Amino acid sequence: MTFKELNIIEPILKALTAKEYFVPTPIQSESIPVLLQGKDILGSAQTGTGKTAAFAIPILQNLYVEKQTSNSRRTIKTLVLAPTRELALQIHDNFKEYSTNIDIKTTVIYGGVPQAKQVRILNQGVDILVATPGRLLDLIQQRKLTLSDVSYLVLDEADRMLDMGFVKDVKKIVAMVKKKRQTMFFSATMPKAIMNLANEILNNPVRVMITPDEEIMDIIKQSVYFVEKKRKIKLLIELLRNDDLKSALVFSRTKHGANNIVKYLDESNVRSKAIHGNKSQTARQKALTLFKSKQIRVLVATDIAARGIDVDELSHVINFDLPEVPETYIHRIGRTGRAGFGGVAISFCSPEQADLLKDIQKHIKMTIPVEKGSIFSIELSSIEVKPSRQNPSRSSRSNKSSRSNNSSNQSKQRQSYSRKKSKTNKVKPKNFSKYDSRNNSKK
Ligand code: AMP
Repeated sequence: MTFKELNIIEPILKALTAKEYFVPTPIQSESIPVLLQGKDILGSAQTGTGKTAAFAIPILQNLYVEKQTSNSRRTIKTLVLAPTRELALQIHDNFKEYSTNIDIKTTVIYGGVPQAKQVRILNQGVDILVATPGRLLDLIQQRKLTLSDVSYLVLDEADRMLDMGFVKDVKKIVAMVKKKRQTMFFSATMPKAIMNLANEILNNPVRVMITPDEEIMDIIKQSVYFVEKKRKIKLLIELLRNDDLKSALVFSRTKHGANNIVKYLDESNVRSKAIHGNKSQTARQKALTLFKSKQIRVLVATDIAARGIDVDELSHVINFDLPEVPETYIHRIGRTGRAGFGGVAISFCSPEQADLLKDIQKHIKMTIPVEKGSIFSIELSSIEVKPSRQNPSRSSRSNKSSRSNNSSNQSKQRQSYSRKKSKTNKVKPKNFSKYDSRNNSKK
């Protein structure tokens, strides 16, 4: 399948080629035809699957086609709502890149920065607006913009919106756009509250599901250290002495915790930065740039801040605190292994977190191998963590054997990737393993 076969128009194809997108990802090949037909979509997909292009390409194409037949003035026809500034900026950048050869204008608005520049750009006229809910409502209340012409509506990372308490705002905003519209609703997870919201907003949607697949889980080497809460930081510092740990995204449960980790790392001469909701936009961007350009090895983040961060070639994810929601574990560890070269996910579990680990293992249907090779490790028996269930296909490689299997899977994955690469010799390595047709299963 190529983008041409998906009937993408030449100027957009040209932009995609410039970005070295040669093969549509599963979510793109499933969503683009549906969206070009004007249908609503309910997509379960997380960042890293190519979801942004899956909705951006058909929107741009539809707007372009409409423009050929009408002379109407430039007004906001598309609204993309995103929970965080980082995600909003990324979506905006993608729209801009895909539309370099067509006369469609995109802008982005988000809070935490002065509004004057944003308003100035809006006044010049835009077709597509990417926004976080708070700033959007703010500007609407000040009558700086109106949504009355919006006929394409995208809600991205809806579960995060719910998490961040944006649901009321979202409903308010949806009520302001045209009733006759095409709506695209994406969420990494689909709990009941999200399904209810989707039912309210969507009209007879086509459901597309791209879940973090087993192959991604398989190429990530997972392990857990049992460690006393107060000794986690020492364990982290010990692990960071290993040069194989080229870049680590460390997850902290709280903002305060994230700051503390950075402080301790600093005292041990490990340069790191924290990224969370209390940091200014500038500080977050700076931290991200330093991390992406490998000037710092460690980025400490809370879940909400980490969503939408697009970092390729991340070697390690470290769960300093285990996540409260098991699904979040998959999203976190899926941050590594993105380039198809495997990755390492290490979790720290203190005795009081044993139940969280149990839930995670139940959710991923496997036992995470226990690492004992640190002076900070404590005995497994003092925690007694056992998975309540094991997936028959995974059960034979639980505990010790799991790790060696993980690495052999990892090398298999590498081989299949290099085969594919040499065959086409065109495909960009980025996330390619996810785009293998074997993963293109609709559930
Ligand atoms: P997203 O899930 O939208 O955050 O996309 C994840 C990453 O995949 C981004 O860096 C995109 O630029 C990249 N990407 C999206 N679609 C493709 C494609 N068809 N081929 C190669 N890379 C892609």
